[in-house]
Amino acid sequence: MPGALVPNLSPEAAERLKRVRLLLLDVDGVLTDGGLYYGNSGEEMKRFDVKDGAGMWVAHRNGLEVGLLTGKTSRIVAQRAQELGLTRVVQGAVDKVPALEKLLQDGAYPLNEIAFMGDDVLDLPVMRRVGFSACPSDAHDQVKARVHYVCSKGGGRGAVRELVDLWFEATGRLPEIMKRFGWEEDPHA
Ligand SMILES: [Mg+2]
Repeated sequence: MPGALVPNLSPEAAERLKRVRLLLLDVDGVLTDGGLYYGNSGEEMKRFDVKDGAGMWVAHRNGLEVGLLTGKTSRIVAQRAQELGLTRVVQGAVDKVPALEKLLQDGAYPLNEIAFMGDDVLDLPVMRRVGFSACPSDAHDQVKARVHYVCSKGGGRGAVRELVDLWFEATGRLPEIMKRFGWEEDPHA
């Protein structure tokens, strides 16, 4: 049942989100603000949001596996995935549909149990296939017009945490999660 934290989710989209058990994320523009930083020595840097990371950590260990599906390749992404304990990671996926199939080749998840968040038109073919699609608030307009949920927060600025929180709320797991952090009372009650 959608509650106070899911005011913008249609009942149909909420039903779709409830079925999700795997959250796949694009990296640039979703886990980051899309900025690509290069140093003089050719060193590449990305900026990640610590609250996104905490949300992924909690979700990954509480019923929502998290994976990464990105068109670029960098050691930074491999390191971030390792820090968070993510194992379903495909980099260098210019065509993301075959990459999606590779990620799912063990048959652990049917498409309707997968959510994907991307920010640009290259992400649309995967969005069309999975059960639930979302994008950050600063995604491309053609993406924003087609997803089940447009986050109020931007890429690299809490959009991933927003979607994870939405999943906890939609699946009714939020009280259980908060209880683990020592809060049993519902502040909205
Ligand atoms: Mg992107």
